[in-house]
Amino acid sequence: MSTLYSTTAIILSRRDFRESDRWYTALTPEYGKIEFVARGGHKSLAKLTPHLEMIAEVELLLVHGRQYQIIAGVERHHSFFGLHEHLNQLTLAHNALHLVDVATKPMERDPVLYELLQDWLEFLCATESISNERAGFLLGSFMLKLMDVCGYRPELKLCLSCHKLIEPQNYHWHALRGGVVCHSCSLANQQAWFSARSISDDTLKLIRFALREPFSSQTRPHLKGEHIESFHEVLESFIISHFPIIPSVSLRTACAV
Ligand SMILES: [Zn+2]
Repeated sequence: MSTLYSTTAIILSRRDFRESDRWYTALTPEYGKIEFVARGGHKSLAKLTPHLEMIAEVELLLVHGRQYQIIAGVERHHSFFGLHEHLNQLTLAHNALHLVDVATKPMERDPVLYELLQDWLEFLCATESISNERAGFLLGSFMLKLMDVCGYRPELKLCLSCHKLIEPQNYHWHALRGGVVCHSCSLANQQAWFSARSISDDTLKLIRFALREPFSSQTRPHLKGEHIESFHEVLESFIISHFPIIPSVSLRTACAV
């Protein structure tokens, strides 16, 4: 990497830093997550800030300073304008940016993750109306796909113990081991599978759908009260067991706007 370089990026987080500077994190297709500082003492900050505060895809011009990377310029590529007109869409976008921020370490290149975030923001822009219940389900779908990209794909088809296809209504969910275990395996070693819990076929189908299908299809499934309740319980147990940082609010609460 040369001293001065440019990269496409989506800003993930921002916070005040030292007296008048701001600290940013951003996701890039080339370098993964990067961190940089915008120097408040420079007149240019006023020009840079509006582009760094919106949810947008931007082109950053960065300089390697002695301690930090410093931003020298920014141009907006693509503003996800549709997002800013709807509160639920905006909430979903901010939550996803936060989840990506806490799930990633700096300088680990991952173009698939960048594409996932781009897809998500495009989808939110293109979707007119999202109910609170649907928002909770959508964020669950984003979370499952994010965990998949980060290497925590839940096992939803084969028994974790005997690796055979599970049969309808004949399995349990084990959050810590990250998937399903067939009934006979859990009976055969009750101590090992002590915390396995039963879930319905409909809940499992909903989780599989949320993980497998693109965001554009996630507005289709009918969200029946008990299944969506159980969907969130399973997902939350999975997040607590495997996500690097436990989000301060549950996915459901995050969307209760
Ligand atoms: Zn088994």
